[in-house]
Amino acid sequence: MEGFEVHDRRFAHYVLGNAPLELLASGFRWVEGPVWMGDADCLLFQDLPRNRTMRWTEEAGVSIYRAPSDYANGQTRDRQGRLIACSHRGRCLYRTELDGRVTRLVAQHAGKRLNAPNDVVVRSDGTIWFTDPLYGIQNDYEGGRQESEQPPALYRFAPESGEIRVMAGDFDGPNGLAFSPDERRLYVAETGDQTGDAPRQFIRVFDVSPDGERLSGGGFFHAVSPGYCDGMRVDEDGNIWSSAADGVHCISPEGQLLGKVLVPHRVSNLAFGGVMKNRLFIAASHSLYAIFLNRRGAHWP
Ligand code: MG
Repeated sequence: MEGFEVHDRRFAHYVLGNAPLELLASGFRWVEGPVWMGDADCLLFQDLPRNRTMRWTEEAGVSIYRAPSDYANGQTRDRQGRLIACSHRGRCLYRTELDGRVTRLVAQHAGKRLNAPNDVVVRSDGTIWFTDPLYGIQNDYEGGRQESEQPPALYRFAPESGEIRVMAGDFDGPNGLAFSPDERRLYVAETGDQTGDAPRQFIRVFDVSPDGERLSGGGFFHAVSPGYCDGMRVDEDGNIWSSAADGVHCISPEGQLLGKVLVPHRVSNLAFGGVMKNRLFIAASHSLYAIFLNRRGAHWP
């Protein structure tokens, strides 16, 4: 099949022979953080180094949603539909309320500033889980160099109580993350200390306690190659769709590579969207792509 690599026959059922990869827009510096806004029938995504959040619609194409974005990166929506974004420059998470006001949600842990929140998901109990590596404060391109005040970590933030808790602190560079459909597993990309010679780069899998209060495990799940997993999403069957240097890789819940959607540029992040949740939006270098799949995203968004 043109445009795909099938490594397992299951994958042949996940893609559609007459649904090729579509280039939606190009000319950005580096796109990130796609999130589908079904009620507004649009995709929001970042042109991160340009300090803008962009909007794409089928009818009108691309326009600016927010500028400046405070160098926002990963995005998601909470259970009330509010947009939550990770800000490199602001070293915080911020939330766009339903009336449009912007609320700074969390910027500190243990009295010290966060590094540069990178990616974020919301559990069904309303808790906000996010990664906080150093990448966004290590250069002037994606927000500006700043001093780190604490080690990289995976956090759980409870917006009702304001409690922030380290769920895993043994990361060199925690990055994209996604819950399994039943939320009993959490996948987190370790993209390593990218200032080092041989960064640790693989997806880790944690078991989540039923009440969502504790993690266990956290071992190796899958190493994406070529490249590494930056952002990922999970489909209705629990497969992980991961960014890679050559496109989007589909990985089974057992950690097996099932197939690839080939993309001409390195992929940073992705999101399911569209009315049927069966359209995968792909942020890849300076371009935004999309492809219809024969699978739906597990979570909304
Ligand atoms: Mg990322």
